[in-house]
Amino acid sequence: MEEEYKITFKKFWKHLHTVNKHRFKVFVLCCKVGIPFQGLVHDLSKYSREEFWEGVRYFQGEYSPINNCKRKNGYSRAWLHHKGRNKHHYEYWYDYATTIETPPMPFKYFLELICDNLAAGMTYQGKDWTKEYQLTYWNRTKERVHMDERLKTLLENIYKQIAKDGVKEVLQKKKLKEQYNRALQES
Ligand SMILES: [Zn+2]
Repeated sequence: MEEEYKITFKKFWKHLHTVNKHRFKVFVLCCKVGIPFQGLVHDLSKYSREEFWEGVRYFQGEYSPINNCKRKNGYSRAWLHHKGRNKHHYEYWYDYATTIETPPMPFKYFLELICDNLAAGMTYQGKDWTKEYQLTYWNRTKERVHMDERLKTLLENIYKQIAKDGVKEVLQKKKLKEQYNRALQES
C-alpha cells in the first residue's frame, strides 16, 4: 500500500468531519424544501464499514474520496455499496435490462438529489461557492448522467434558475412539484 493511501488518524477525523458537514448541509437544504426526515437520514450508509474506511483511505479534501479511489483502482466498492442503497442517486434506478432503462425517480428523491448536489458543491468549495457553481459543474458532467431525459432537462433548468435567483428562491416544494409534474407530462 502506497503511503498516500494509508489510513491515518488525521484522515479518519477529516473524513468523519466532511461526512458530518455534508450531511448537515443536506439537512438544512432538505428542511428548506420540506423533506426534513429525508434530510436527517441522508447518506447514513456512509458510516457503514464498507463506505467509511474507503473514504478514510482515499481522503484528500478537495473532492470525493470515491473519485480518488476510482482513479486509483478503476472502481470503488464504497460507491457500489452507496448507490445500491440510496434512492437519491439516479444510478439507483438505472437498469439496462428493464423496459425503461432510466425510470424517472420519484419526486421526493429528486428533491433530495438536488439538495445533495448543492450541498456537495458547498462542502468542497467552502467560501468560494457561488450560486452559479452548480450550473457550471452540471455543464461539465451532464454528458455522463444516465437519468430520465425529461428530469435531466428539468434539473438543468433548476440549476439555471438557481444561478440566476439563488437557492432560497428556487428551493420551494410546491413550485418544484409543479415543474416535476409538468416535465413528466410532456412526452
Ligand atoms: Zn448519497
